[in-house]
Amino acid sequence: MPDLRLAGGDVLLHDGIWRVVRGDVTVRDGTIQAVGRTDGRADQDATPVSVRDCRGCLVIPGLVQAHVHLCQTLFRGLADDLRLEDWLVRRIWPLEAAHTEETVYASALLGAAELLLGGTTAILDMETVRHTGAAFRALERMGIRATAGKCLMDAHPEGAPIDLAESTDDALADAEALARRWHGAADGRLRVCFAPRFVPSCSGPLLRAASDLAERFDAQLHTHAAETIVERETVLRTTGLEEIAYLDSVGIAGPRAVLAHCVWVDTHEMKRLARQGTTVVHCPSSNLKLASGVAKVPELLAAGCRVAIGADGAPCNNGLDAFAEMRLAALIQKPRLGADALPAAQVLELATLGGARALGLEDEIGSIAPGKRADLVVLDLSEPHLHPLLGDPVSLIVYSARSSDVRDVFVDGRPVVLGHELLTAPVDHIVREADRAAAELHRLAKLS
Ligand SMILES: [Zn+2]
Repeated sequence: MPDLRLAGGDVLLHDGIWRVVRGDVTVRDGTIQAVGRTDGRADQDATPVSVRDCRGCLVIPGLVQAHVHLCQTLFRGLADDLRLEDWLVRRIWPLEAAHTEETVYASALLGAAELLLGGTTAILDMETVRHTGAAFRALERMGIRATAGKCLMDAHPEGAPIDLAESTDDALADAEALARRWHGAADGRLRVCFAPRFVPSCSGPLLRAASDLAERFDAQLHTHAAETIVERETVLRTTGLEEIAYLDSVGIAGPRAVLAHCVWVDTHEMKRLARQGTTVVHCPSSNLKLASGVAKVPELLAAGCRVAIGADGAPCNNGLDAFAEMRLAALIQKPRLGADALPAAQVLELATLGGARALGLEDEIGSIAPGKRADLVVLDLSEPHLHPLLGDPVSLIVYSARSSDVRDVFVDGRPVVLGHELLTAPVDHIVREADRAAAELHRLAKLS
């Protein structure tokens, strides 16, 4: 008998195409048991069943963001209107270097709260060099599904400041210790990834060893690639190889590898990424705000690449809103390639199934189907901006819905948001602590 029933909503299913059925989603032990009409027998069973009335609501799979930096949530508004290279050197690296256990914890709580309240149930996260254990403790408390990794940087002085760079051995030892502690924690909800920042910050041996560790721990590799033309040229000059070929040469390729951005890749590199089964994460707000460019997502998809979506970090976005990223992802391709360039249905796949595959969890999350984990989002359809309801529900999600329409969120069948309220930690406390911690960081970082 189920222990949770989402009753009477319009449930969004995916079986090659998106379609909606009106009925119940029943959940047992964190797993989706059935979708469709139920006869109410569960209510008569001795097992207490929690029934959530979802009439008038749309029940969708939890959204997945495959590239975020929760350690940067406290930097929101502190690094505006800069191109990537200045943004990193003048703002993000000094702020990351100033982080303490307490500020990393506060930053992760704030980010996870925003994500859950906005319907994102799973993330691939890159933290900073130090205190990643504090981020995991925050993620454990908040109830979000997260694959997170400490940032690996050993290439001082070319690509890492002295106060963030570690020795290759220290970086790898810390990453391995985190994997031993956190990979598979919270009944599998938390996983570790190995996260070299990007090629200019990392030595070849560090990248190779990160790839070997990912293999050994059955974990994902998470890095940035081809974000700006400067990065592309730097990698070519320092390694003698194009960036995607270089990453391949050090083992950052294939279904474990997740590359954020890939704005500056040529057609032959797209084909290589597709052959490898590497995931590209599209971060449209970040790419626009840092003036990096527009990733050729329709071309990547046409080449057969795996693509997911992510908000990146609060200081380059400045939000962590999956609905905003979906809408923008669809819109920014249209002037270049035509109005049908990246349709809503495809964008929603990037934010669900694409993200699940990026995390290596395609059998567990990304769609509503019996046997999958019950990571579910209930959208309240009562607001005027969602009416009339005659159209395609997928269009409604991608083009009209907002994160504020998220009424309930379940991860592993556990309610983490109900009636727009976060259940796992008090939001007033989270924002108060975040404000205090951000002020402290701002003071410590001595920004120019
Ligand atoms: Zn990033």
